[in-house]
Amino acid sequence: MDCGLLSPIQYIKGVGPAKAKLLKRLGIETVRDVLFFLPQKYEFRPALCNISNIKYDTVQTVVGKVISTRLIETKKNPSLKIVEVDISDGSMWLKAKWFNQTYIKNMMTTGKQVLLTGIVKRDNYSLLPTIVNPDFEILDDVNDIDISVKEDCIIPIYSLTEGVTQRKIRSIVSFVFNNCQINIQDPIPDEILSRRGLPRLYDAIKAIHFPSTDMDLDALNSYQSNYHKRLIFDELFIIQLGLKALKNNLQSINGISMRGDGSLRGQLIKQLPFRLTSAQKRVISEIYRDMASTKTMNRLIQGDVGCGKTIVALLSMLNAVECGYQSALMAPTEILAEQHYANICSYLKGLDVKIIICTANRKNKLTYITRSEADIIVGTHAIIQENISFEALGLVVIDEQHRFGVLQRASLRKKGENPDCLVMTATPIPRTLALTVYGDLDYSVIDELPPNRRPVITRLFFEKNKNEIYDILKREIKSGRQAYVVYPLIEESENSDLRSAVEGAERLKTVFPEFEIGLVHGRMKAEQREKIMDDFKNGKVDILVSTTVIEVGVDVPNATVMLIVHAERFGLAQLHQLRGRVGRGEHESYCLLLCYGFSEEAKRRLIVMVKTSDGFKIAEEDMNIRGYGDFFGTRQSGMPNMRFANLFRDSKVLEIAQKEADELIKKDPMLNNYPHLKRFAQDFWGDKIEIFKTA
Ligand code: ADP
Ligand code: MG
Repeated sequence: MDCGLLSPIQYIKGVGPAKAKLLKRLGIETVRDVLFFLPQKYEFRPALCNISNIKYDTVQTVVGKVISTRLIETKKNPSLKIVEVDISDGSMWLKAKWFNQTYIKNMMTTGKQVLLTGIVKRDNYSLLPTIVNPDFEILDDVNDIDISVKEDCIIPIYSLTEGVTQRKIRSIVSFVFNNCQINIQDPIPDEILSRRGLPRLYDAIKAIHFPSTDMDLDALNSYQSNYHKRLIFDELFIIQLGLKALKNNLQSINGISMRGDGSLRGQLIKQLPFRLTSAQKRVISEIYRDMASTKTMNRLIQGDVGCGKTIVALLSMLNAVECGYQSALMAPTEILAEQHYANICSYLKGLDVKIIICTANRKNKLTYITRSEADIIVGTHAIIQENISFEALGLVVIDEQHRFGVLQRASLRKKGENPDCLVMTATPIPRTLALTVYGDLDYSVIDELPPNRRPVITRLFFEKNKNEIYDILKREIKSGRQAYVVYPLIEESENSDLRSAVEGAERLKTVFPEFEIGLVHGRMKAEQREKIMDDFKNGKVDILVSTTVIEVGVDVPNATVMLIVHAERFGLAQLHQLRGRVGRGEHESYCLLLCYGFSEEAKRRLIVMVKTSDGFKIAEEDMNIRGYGDFFGTRQSGMPNMRFANLFRDSKVLEIAQKEADELIKKDPMLNNYPHLKRFAQDFWGDKIEIFKTA
């Protein structure tokens, strides 16, 4: 049979159209998909033996016919349900028991041949050999037992879907390896493989499906075998290669050299009510150095919520203005753009700098912004997507990066005259990871919070303790503080039990008639929203009720309570951001998480919030809970998805991949001497990266 890597799986022996449909659910459509369909885990399986020869107290494998099946429930322990099955292989009977897995009863039809693996004990009553909670397979045909059962082996366990058994997948995998032409060109250059002691791709894939008995089971199960590492390396390497190529491409672009006279910056610093932290100073000087260079700046500023990124951005923007250039600051939401605008106006009071705000909601639909109109333009990310151009744009600052992708960034730089670019993010990820996700950027971190920050007291509440929450709100507001109350939705819809912001505000008004309560949400008119935000800033509003529009950036140091309603519906990053809105002044602050029941996953998130305020730990937990893809918002960021690598688990491999990619791109920027690698990169990145396009 003629089958190559791209042959559809349907034509493989024993598959056919119906099974092919089922396999598609597992992501298997071609022969190649089979090769890269990694087992979920591995188990040691000793060679098959007759039941009469069984050894007690060790793992054994037996095959036999189902004689009878029963479900046992005891009065003593009503929650315990036992499925008991007798099997016989002609030499002797054996009893198998499964606890609380009642579905197994229906699978063990009398007369079926089954394979069981597990530790064998002697049953005290019947004296029969007994296996408790064994792994099992239902065999369609006794002759179907594969060779592996004839000797000790490590078998792969694949993830399944209805209608596809382990046996089926294993037989497809075997068929593919035995009968198809697997012409895998190894994309990774030999010198890298030998330097890093990595196996060849074909060998890795083969070993992953057919591990030899002497391999380390733990290493296999934690994806740390050298063979797994090879696949992980490939993925990380190819991502790094793409990012380095992007970066390389950018660095060759000439931009503007800006070295202002310091006049505006000097004035600003003189009127600041605080001193810059040394981390802020260090990062600012890195930015000034980049701006002075004739190369285009592409720098990421990472710093946890509240570390003071805004002032860093502002000083950089003033540097551009001093040189006669315009600066644009872009935020992910309108409300945050408005906040930035208000903050910047107040920071720059008395300075001769023209600031405008430019959002979709505003009437002033500008298309060409001259220098006489504005030195600093504040707006949403839409600024770059819409048809706005500038007379002399020198610097673009993008706030809150994790909603803004690698490829969007690339499109920004294509706009106009190569302005310098600064990206600010509060996603607290370790340096190696930052280098991956933002590998196309240089990297600075503000790793210090301003002095006098206090940890926020975080507590979990259920509806029945609502009064305690009201007490805290009352006490705080009576002593002059303010509070945020955040809801996940705007309006209560009929088929949803979510407490909405609109209803919530009404309810709070009846509970606290003596307090001023304001409501903001995304569907409001900008002016209306701005008025309420101003009132909150000025202390006229005591409780600000909102949807997640205030998630990022809002800054009111007098606010000491953050009440999050339906906290179970929020992601960890969101919760952390929201909590970062309080604890910014000299007063003790509280984050109150109000829950209405939760899933296991939500519970894990909430426990993390109560236990720690360390952004790094939270990010790590978040990634463990959600998986890497969701964590980085890869779908929207345009980063290709990872199938094998886990950035936290595989940080060592990541470091190696970074080094190798860096060296290779330096040596051969267009990968001209590595055609296989180039094609591989192209398959992975699609047409997203210029240099791979021409492969
Ligand atoms: P983020 O990094 O989360 O964007 P902001 O820039 O909003 O943080 O700053 C948070 C608060 O800290 C603001 O009120 C800001 O004025 C204040 N701040 C910034 N830098 C300092 C500093 N060096 N000392 C004291 N307060 C500071
Ligand atoms: Mg900010």
